[in-house]
Amino acid sequence: MDRPSAYKRAAPRQAAEPPVSGPSSADHLPSGEAWARSVFIAPLPRAQAELAERWPAIVGAPAAVRVTDLVDPRRGYWRSQVGTRIAPAHPAAIERGTRMHRTLGEILGPSAAFEVQIARAGVVGQIDALLDVPIELKTTSRAVPAEELLERRPEAVAQLVAYCALSERPRGWLALVAGADAGPFAVSVGEFDAGNLADRLRALAHEADRFRYALEKGSPASLPACRWFDHGCEFQRDGLCDCSGTEEEERSPMISGIAPGRTVEPTRAQWETAWNRSPAAPAPLVSSFRDLVYPRLAYMEATRGRAEGYPRTPASELRRRLREVLEAGPVGEVARLLPRTEQAPDLIESWQGEPLLVRTTHASVRPSPEEISRSAPQHALELGFRCAAVGIPNGRLVLGWERAPTGQIPFQVLRYHFEPLGTFSRMWRERVLALEATRRDGRFERLAACPAWRARSCPYQPECGCPGGLTSR
Ligand code: SF4
Repeated sequence: MDRPSAYKRAAPRQAAEPPVSGPSSADHLPSGEAWARSVFIAPLPRAQAELAERWPAIVGAPAAVRVTDLVDPRRGYWRSQVGTRIAPAHPAAIERGTRMHRTLGEILGPSAAFEVQIARAGVVGQIDALLDVPIELKTTSRAVPAEELLERRPEAVAQLVAYCALSERPRGWLALVAGADAGPFAVSVGEFDAGNLADRLRALAHEADRFRYALEKGSPASLPACRWFDHGCEFQRDGLCDCSGTEEEERSPMISGIAPGRTVEPTRAQWETAWNRSPAAPAPLVSSFRDLVYPRLAYMEATRGRAEGYPRTPASELRRRLREVLEAGPVGEVARLLPRTEQAPDLIESWQGEPLLVRTTHASVRPSPEEISRSAPQHALELGFRCAAVGIPNGRLVLGWERAPTGQIPFQVLRYHFEPLGTFSRMWRERVLALEATRRDGRFERLAACPAWRARSCPYQPECGCPGGLTSR
């Protein structure tokens, strides 16, 4: 794959902030655990001011619609009504996906940003990879030549053009990879010119209004026909949609006037070399960072069955808005970092180059860093594990409070500094070993208990009997 000529980094901008200083949060953690002495917390006033300036425009606008819903609006509509129909990823699929990202990282070099999130004009998109072109990566069972991508994968091309509009890049690449399980590969990369970007963005905003209208009305009647009707649509298959197949067909405004793709060469040889340089790693022993933070809960869920609706709560309106305010910043600021360890269960979300956590609390007033340390030590743990995964000693918490008085800025930005960072790598290893041992002998008491607030509504409490409070085991 040739790099674009005007090759430049979609660099995350690092905000200049004063160094973190102040007391360790150890004194404020309920358990006084040893790991807490490696955590330092301080406000980030410039980052806070940056987000606060954007906030009024975000909070006064309609909720952003995802590009993936706009390029396939009927399925997007039903997804919003009944949830995703995709089964949880199999460990082998997670491993393959991670390997695919590492392969792409090998090909594109260190300048590439991955899974870049951008919100513009009421639309939000996640770009698989970004150089000075956005790159959309799709896997497929059968190869499609670059020249035929527009005809045979119109949604994917529409998605790419939408990303060009959001990221203000005049052209983009659609990479289609077939046979990614073992190789050899058939790879086609088509380059597309996006046309007038301002027009595309306007059309995108219009499509978003139309999608919101369907949601408001509680009916997809105003949305065009689904291309997957009678061709494997999961909502039709499961009897969850009311589509009839007679709806009006429409060509997406993202692909009107688009010329067929041009092949970007070389592709296959480069892809194979990079794939071989990124050997398969054993599937991570934990499937999420949450399992590392709450290992006892992870064990209970895995062995007793997950209780319906517990403990996941849908993202609140405030949490969605906080994401939008971050995503409205310069292109490339919100992206995912490739972990250094193969044991990381996911890529690491970052903002301005540092691992990021966005959380909310039910508080009505702004909590102090000390209160956050005391009442929510899990944020330090989760960020610490994420920082350990990428070898970066600083992470950021954007924390909103749900019951803030109207008109107040309802969030704050904190930097967590971890020193030594090795504390978290060590704890990661210990927790994984403890989980493995518990899977063998069932003695879950050795696993770290969850904080008290979690235990209060936990369905496993009668059996588990946890006292609450984090422990470092
Ligand atoms: S009872 Fe407590 S420690 Fe046990 S799983 Fe539930 S919250 Fe976690």
